[in-house]
Amino acid sequence: MKHILSKKNLGKVFCSVAWVGLVLTVACLSGCGLDSPKVLSDVDTAMGTVITQKIYLKKPVKTKKENGDALPTEEILGLVGSLERERISFRIPDAELARINEAFADRDPIAGDEPDVVKLSPQMEEILTRCLEISEASDGAFDITIGSVARLWNVDEWADPPKTDSEAAYPLPSESEIREKLDTSGYEKVTVKDHGIILSPGMSLDLGAVGKGIALDEILQYLKGQENVEGAVISAGGSILTYGTKPDGTAWNVGIVDPMSTDQSLGILTLTGQWCVSTSGDYERYVEVDGVRYHHIIDPETGYPARSRVKSVTVLTRDGFLSDALSTACFILGRDKGMELAEKYGAEALFVDQDGEVAMTEGMRQYFNFAAKEK
Ligand code: AMP
Ligand code: MG
Repeated sequence: MKHILSKKNLGKVFCSVAWVGLVLTVACLSGCGLDSPKVLSDVDTAMGTVITQKIYLKKPVKTKKENGDALPTEEILGLVGSLERERISFRIPDAELARINEAFADRDPIAGDEPDVVKLSPQMEEILTRCLEISEASDGAFDITIGSVARLWNVDEWADPPKTDSEAAYPLPSESEIREKLDTSGYEKVTVKDHGIILSPGMSLDLGAVGKGIALDEILQYLKGQENVEGAVISAGGSILTYGTKPDGTAWNVGIVDPMSTDQSLGILTLTGQWCVSTSGDYERYVEVDGVRYHHIIDPETGYPARSRVKSVTVLTRDGFLSDALSTACFILGRDKGMELAEKYGAEALFVDQDGEVAMTEGMRQYFNFAAKEK
């Protein structure tokens, strides 16, 4: 099942090439033949990003051509596709998140419209509850109610692939437009109770900061139910899952992109067993307008792309949601507060600042090794 790479997807594909290349290269270097019938490899797109998979099986499986069932790689792509379509997309009108946003889009409190409760699926209730917790813990740096402000910047569309141009090509939102949208946002104005949600009028939720991590958690559940899977390394955009063991017993090697030079590796995380690694960086999606970089991670206090001096932050946890949420939160909070937040959750974090300086939590040192610099 090969997905066609549409023009729209290509930018994201190019952004992720460094990750994909590194992960696959590392996987191959560590001693597995790509043509082994017990190893499944796939690079595809889903959820608007590149999904790379390498799955090690205990016994070879028949492909569909050989009248076998769907391969685990195919089932995983299906899972990620449904997660987006049915649950977490704000763009696909039938997705649960889009329906929640729609329900509160036109409500007019001045006309006396009562805020109805929109019922939540158990999965969405858990996602939203966890998001609100991270908002509290990060003092509002992480805030999924940023949707209407984020749409104003429209960086996801502009930066596809990242471009440099003048303001004529990318008209930036005005201060008053940003203020107006900021006024309708704020996680404190969200009520989740009795398996339902109430948003304030005009508010729009955006799960872009946690979507890949949630996908990794679903993939993890799937893999745990597969007796024949010995180990796997799977990446969804800037988030990577390692699971189980490699047949040769060697560790998983996960590359971290050097944000100062995104075609190079900053270093490698050496991991055994189940881990989730997420990176948020100002190089992932951006436009440069008249010399200023506008990226996709918004500071809810200002409504502008965060200016925390962080260029990228990588978070390592056992849980996909948490690694993805924390990487976005830490990017906005900056190094010192971000480090505190990561430690509060028992996560490891590595920051690269605007000058290329690297700082990491004490625990990260046992997993991370710098790459030898290319001359
Ligand atoms: P990530 O690349 O995981 O850091 O997520 C960035 C995405 O999260 C953006 O493209 C937006 O969809 C969304 N986002 C931007 N700013 C915030 C924020 N302050 N809190 C939560 N989500 C955000
Ligand atoms: Mg994130």
